[in-house]
Amino acid sequence: MENINHINFDYNATAPLRSVAHDEVMHALGQIKGNPSSIHRLGRDARSLLESARMRIANALSVEARQIVFTSGATESNTMVLRGFKGPVLVSAVEHSSLLDVRDDVTLAPVDENGIVYLDFIEKWLDEHPGRSLVSVMAANNETGVIQPVEKISELCKRNGALFHSDCVQAVARVPLDMHLFDCVSLSAHKCGGLSGLGCVIVKDGFPLSALLKGGGQERSYRSGTENLVGIIAFAAALEEAMGLNESKEWQRVKELRLMMEDQLTSVCSALKIMGQTALRLPNTTCIAMPGMKAETQVMQFDLEGIALSAGSACSSGKVKKSRVLAAMGIPDAVAETAIRISLSPKTTKNDIDSLVSIWKKIYQSIKHNNVEANAA
Ligand code: PMP
Repeated sequence: MENINHINFDYNATAPLRSVAHDEVMHALGQIKGNPSSIHRLGRDARSLLESARMRIANALSVEARQIVFTSGATESNTMVLRGFKGPVLVSAVEHSSLLDVRDDVTLAPVDENGIVYLDFIEKWLDEHPGRSLVSVMAANNETGVIQPVEKISELCKRNGALFHSDCVQAVARVPLDMHLFDCVSLSAHKCGGLSGLGCVIVKDGFPLSALLKGGGQERSYRSGTENLVGIIAFAAALEEAMGLNESKEWQRVKELRLMMEDQLTSVCSALKIMGQTALRLPNTTCIAMPGMKAETQVMQFDLEGIALSAGSACSSGKVKKSRVLAAMGIPDAVAETAIRISLSPKTTKNDIDSLVSIWKKIYQSIKHNNVEANAA
C-alpha cells in the first residue's frame, strides 16, 4: 500500500493502532493457546489474560472491572442499551446512527444551533415521564466535536430517578470524563488506538442491558461468544496510554493547532462556517462548510493532494448521506452539503496543518475561478 505519505486528518473515523497496542498484540498472539472459558491450564491462562486486561481498562477509567462487558464495538453496545430498556426513552437528535436507528418509539431531544441539547427540554420531558425512564446523550459529537453538558444532564436524571446512558466513544481519552456521571457508557476500542471490532459497555448494577447474543453465557451472559482476547488486550494497552498524563498535554497542543488552522482558513474565506464554533468542542475536531463545493468533491480533491479527511461521519459505508447532526442544528442543506470534517490526531504537526491550509487555499481558488467563469459565461 502506498499511503505512507498521506496526511491523516480523519482520526475520528479510526485512530491508527498505537504501537504499544501493536506490540502487546504480537506478544499475545504467541501466548494465547486456550479459550478463556476452558477449565484446563491453557484456558485458565487465557482467562487470566482476559481478566487482567479488564482490570487495566477499569483502572484507566476508574470503574470496577465487573462493570465492563466487552462487545464487538460501540454499535453493538448502543443497540444493547436501547433494546434492553423497556420504558420511555429520550435520545438527543445528534446521536450516532447506531443509537438513532435502533428504535422508532424514542423521543428526540432537540439541539441548539451549536448542537447542544436543550436542557429545559430534557427537564420537561423528565417531569412528564416520572418513574423509570432512560436518557441517552453522547458526551461529544463525532461530526462536529461539540461537547454536551453531561454533568447537568446527569444531575437532572438523578433528581428524577431516570437512567442516563452516554455514548462516550469520541470523548474518552480526549477530554476529562467522570464515568460516575453515567449509569451506562458505550465505548469503542478503535477510536483510541485499539483494534476495530471491539468495544464495551460499562454498566452500573441493575442497568437493563439486552443480551443480543445468547449461548455460551460469556460476559455475565450479557454477551455470549468466545471473547476477542487479542482485541481486548490491545484495547487495554491503547486506553492506558491514551489516558496518560502526557496525552492531555498533547491534546492541548492539538487544540492550539486546530484553532490556528481555523483562523487561517477563516482569513482566506470569511464566508466559511465552522459548526458549533462557539461551543466547547473536542480538541481535535472541526467541521467546516466551504461554500461553493460539495463535500464529496472536496474529499476527493484533498485525497488527490495526499490528505485524508471526511465528509460528515465516516460511518455510512463510504456513502455521503445527508448529515442528521447538521440538520438537527438547523444548518440549511445547501451549507451542510459543503461541510467536511477535519479531525486531528495526537501526532498532527504544524507542517501537516500548513499543508492542509495551502491545499485548502488551492481548492478554494479553483472554486472562485470556476464561479467567475460560470458567471461570465
Ligand atoms: N458512536 C460514535 C459517536 C461513533 O463515532 C462511532 C463510530 N464512528 C460509533 C458509535 C460506532 O462505533 P463502532 O465502530 O465501534 O461500532
